[in-house]
Amino acid sequence: MSRPTGKSVVVVGSSNTDMILRVARVPRPGETLLGGEFSTAPGGKGANQAVAAARAGGRVSFVARLGRDPLGDAALAGFRKEGMGLSRVVRDRGRPSGVALIFVGADGENSIGVAGGANQRLSPADVSAARGLISGARVLLVQLETPLRTVEAAARIARAAGVDVILNPAPARPLPSALLRNVSILTPNETEASVLTGVRVTGAASAARAARILMRRGVGTVIVTLGARGALVATRGGSQVIPGFKVRAVDTTAAGDVFNGALAVRLAENCPLGAAVRFAHAAAAISVTRRGAQPSIPARSEIDALLGK
Ligand code: ADP
Repeated sequence: MSRPTGKSVVVVGSSNTDMILRVARVPRPGETLLGGEFSTAPGGKGANQAVAAARAGGRVSFVARLGRDPLGDAALAGFRKEGMGLSRVVRDRGRPSGVALIFVGADGENSIGVAGGANQRLSPADVSAARGLISGARVLLVQLETPLRTVEAAARIARAAGVDVILNPAPARPLPSALLRNVSILTPNETEASVLTGVRVTGAASAARAARILMRRGVGTVIVTLGARGALVATRGGSQVIPGFKVRAVDTTAAGDVFNGALAVRLAENCPLGAAVRFAHAAAAISVTRRGAQPSIPARSEIDALLGK
């Protein structure tokens, strides 16, 4: 695959292999259920976002840790196919590749356990080793499935070099203001916005209240994603809802990841914020019409087609 040229997106984050067992219902503690159907799929928020950015047409480098094991080999082979820069993917000798064990019941209910493995050893030193890559990028994209101190180190390096930092604060957890001050664009969903601020976020008005709190704590721009309703975009100049695309959703897994990867690419192309959010909505909307995480991520041509380009 030929690499797109131009300023790049660097993604620092997690890679997991999802091990999915479809069963009649999620088993109770102590129970054994027969008759399941097993599948595996590449996942992890960092990897999903990096793949989303690559398919959206970005020049993408991924900074991550994989184990020296067959799951790590398979993940790396998958990233290569996407045309991503992988010079800063470290193979950890002491820990296995990240794994998520997922039970999915017939009604769509699920139960998930994650063993972070090598992801938990992605360190500030790994990020320092990628300093040149990060400093030369247009956008750094980070999430919270790797140690917080690593996310903080990456954001500090980017900010010092004038590189925009997009933080997708997932999974939800409170964050220190020292990190938020280095964030250009924060992209929580409603749950994450609630956990970050204490405001119960259930729609545009409460999302705007939460966004104001986060901007007071030092974030530049806040985009609260609102599922099928789109997103609340708040800047110093004010806030507005940018609606999403109406589609028939079959699986919303990784919608947020696709949104973030696509957003990063369009911003790296110097697209204005509103248009970049519409692009991200289009990418995420396509992904929810298909099953799975990485398999559902659309190509640039599909996103442009939905946008009528
Ligand atoms: P997360 O997946 O992180 O929980 P959201 O549910 O807010 O985040 O979804 C992120 C984005 O994905 C939305 O802003 C929107 O662009 C898109 N999206 C999610 N669900 C739908 C849907 N049912 N229809 C169309 N777009 C959707």
